Amino acid sequence: MVDVTRRSVVGLMAALPLLSGAGRALAATLPATPKASSGEVYLNFNENPWGPSAAARKAMAEGVALSGRYPYKFQYRLVDLLARQLSVPEEHIEIYAGSKVALQQAVLAYTGSRSLVLATPTYEAPRMAAEAHGATVHEVPLDAAHAHDINAMLAADTQLGVIYICNPNNPTGTLTPMAQIERALKEKPAGALVVVDEAYIHYCDAPSCVPLVKDHPDLLVLRTFSKIYGMAGARLGYAVGQPALLAKLNVLGEQNVAAAASLLGAIASLEDRTLLPERKQSNTRIRDENMTWFRDRGFTCTAAQGNFFMVDLRRPAQEVVQGLAQHGVRVGRIWENWPNWVRITVGKEEEMARLRSAFALVALPAKR
Ligand code: PLP
Repeated sequence: MVDVTRRSVVGLMAALPLLSGAGRALAATLPATPKASSGEVYLNFNENPWGPSAAARKAMAEGVALSGRYPYKFQYRLVDLLARQLSVPEEHIEIYAGSKVALQQAVLAYTGSRSLVLATPTYEAPRMAAEAHGATVHEVPLDAAHAHDINAMLAADTQLGVIYICNPNNPTGTLTPMAQIERALKEKPAGALVVVDEAYIHYCDAPSCVPLVKDHPDLLVLRTFSKIYGMAGARLGYAVGQPALLAKLNVLGEQNVAAAASLLGAIASLEDRTLLPERKQSNTRIRDENMTWFRDRGFTCTAAQGNFFMVDLRRPAQEVVQGLAQHGVRVGRIWENWPNWVRITVGKEEEMARLRSAFALVALPAKR
């Protein structure tokens, strides 16, 4: 029997729908095609409600037809295109079936006798990877501005193996200043790896750490096609780092080939130069309008920069999450040390309207 503690439920939900065991059991409780079949609104996994672009869908369909053969040439094409767009050498890029795989492999490669330090709350995948092989984990609260407290993170242990910085941070959506990340690189213990997870960077104006890679052999930057590109189900991400570091990540040997359809969808997405600015603009507008709606009703929101934000409900957030679910609106998750806050993913206009109507019924005082 699995001992499902509160913390592990939080962790399992973080890992959905990509874990086996109890995570799979939880995933099985979700409808297979949620929005289409149930009319429910899913604002709970930081997914992109628009999915792949029209060009990506067409390319992915071609990729399905070509799937009888190994997709190496598509992978080389994707690496070549990324290298040109990011102005880095091809050898500095490694493709993964989701950036989470790169993150897990980095934690496995650099922790063990050495520890992991990460913020709290933040994305739990690195903590779970470290715990899976018995490495020590240090969780350091975000600072008052909800940025990573780099001072405290560096002071957590002299034997740090991985310093994980999620920028913008999931779940708060808040940014950590570049100067602080550079300080982590300068002051970290020798041999420790700094991982900067930029899963949500395209939604905001913050500078990327990719240009720092050429001068920092211990910096790994992670990117994904799951968020602004709307391809979470296609499982495609990449890591940017110096070749020796990328080689060290291959703890199981060379295995980093993604599916043909995913690779071709990613190439089509990157070639479409209007996709990102359009999606960024509409996400910002819908996110900020909805944060204003909550603030106008007296709730505090985080200074969110991604496709999600957190709201302080000033009461146990679980009650509100359950109430909204009864109205067909799924939000969350809730983090253990922020029990009154809920994370809400930015959906389409009509989905956010459903959220606001349900929230008014569940959590606002009735009007007389
Ligand atoms: N990094 C962060 C911060 C995330 O929030 C997520 C998914 O929610 C991932 C990585 C996983 O990305 P991928 O789908 O590329 O594995």
